[in-house]
Amino acid sequence: METLISLAKRRGFIFQGSEIYGGLAGTWDYGHLGLALKENIKRSWWRTFVLNREDMFGLDAAILMSAEVWKASGHAEGFADPLVSCTSCKRRFRVDQIEGTVCSECGGALTDARQFNMMFETQVGAAEDSSALAYLRPETAQGIFVNFKNVLDAYHPKLPFGIAQIGKSFRNEITPRDFLFRVREFEQMEIEYFVHPTLWEEQFEKLRVETIAWTRSIGLPKESLHEIEVPDGERAHYSARTIDVEFDYPFGQKELFGLAYRGDYDLSRHKEKSGAELSYLDEATGERFVPHVIEPSFGVDRLVLAVLVSAYREDELGGEKRAYLALAPHIAPVTAAIFPLLKNKPALVEKARQVYHNLKKSIPSIVFDDNGNIGKRYRRQDEIGTPWCITVDFDTLEDDTVTLRVRDTGEQERVNIGELVTRVSHSLSQG
Ligand code: ATP
Repeated sequence: METLISLAKRRGFIFQGSEIYGGLAGTWDYGHLGLALKENIKRSWWRTFVLNREDMFGLDAAILMSAEVWKASGHAEGFADPLVSCTSCKRRFRVDQIEGTVCSECGGALTDARQFNMMFETQVGAAEDSSALAYLRPETAQGIFVNFKNVLDAYHPKLPFGIAQIGKSFRNEITPRDFLFRVREFEQMEIEYFVHPTLWEEQFEKLRVETIAWTRSIGLPKESLHEIEVPDGERAHYSARTIDVEFDYPFGQKELFGLAYRGDYDLSRHKEKSGAELSYLDEATGERFVPHVIEPSFGVDRLVLAVLVSAYREDELGGEKRAYLALAPHIAPVTAAIFPLLKNKPALVEKARQVYHNLKKSIPSIVFDDNGNIGKRYRRQDEIGTPWCITVDFDTLEDDTVTLRVRDTGEQERVNIGELVTRVSHSLSQG
């Protein structure tokens, strides 16, 4: 894990938040390459679950919402973790994360458990009374529920249909830890999929298969994913079925994403508290009811971490040790790097620039690199997971062919410049 964190920093993927001031626990900043990786994951999810389907509607709701939303959803009361603190060093720990009966840091005595609400509070407007109280949302889902009627009125969708949203969420986690796994500011990708109450089981099964297939498509191996049926008693009272999909992180098998059947809990609560008509009229049968909902809920940062963990490899190539990221081409931050064989030969540089500009028109995520020798350039691209390196050499000037080098095997082949776009785009479209 330390190796991965240091690679992420050195190569400009992810930095500790507020690092020059000693860091702010539970926050991470994404640099150019980390951002590209994260955007590719989000784009792939959006394409699969929204753009490629006819039954999904996108939404981007405000992070700040009326405090009433959180009263209705139960978060104001219940979004809490039991917490103990050390009477000696004052550190706080989540009850489900402590081992033994004394402080793991200093051996001091621990207090009794008490509830700690994980929502960040803030004030909206100038007044500092309770009417101005607002929260940073701890999940994106409630933005979907409060817009249910707007979506119905605007698009008149027929059940089953879903509303999907990608956005930031905030939780004042007691013990942020394990790099991107447990943080205080993170992104979620959530779908609320609305169904007729009698049909939830088949839709749950469909979403289970589709969500797992998508996680595999971004490069997570089957054997690292574990579907855990949350047993009776551990699920929310309104849920008849919940699956936590766990992943083998370097620090253990832990949750990656969740799939929960939430019944009509959220819509009914908002219907009751707001007075809005949050029901659905089936025009064919005349039946009016509050739809039930199935919720696949992904954390983007946990996916970034799982993708990095799955892709990291060390091997020996040409008698030299190397580290590389075996990222799926459509997820890799850089798709291809174009090199002139020698930096000080203007004809090569000019030709390489030409190839670069032409290719960039069809594949924007490519880079030009003429720093250091070719071996160093390969290592650098391997470490950031670039699937292809394309070298322009003296033969190129004669016959318009280039060397196409494949990241995972180091194999090289001669390819016509004219074929590059087709070759590279073909692999990208596999994702
Ligand atoms: P955990 O038990 O690990 O705290 P949770 O069950 O509270 O997670 P949910 O409320 O179901 O998580 O949130 C849905 C998804 O959001 C999680 O599966 C995870 O991917 C992501 N997520 C939740 N909390 C965090 C966090 N503090 N940091 C990063 N991602 C998170």
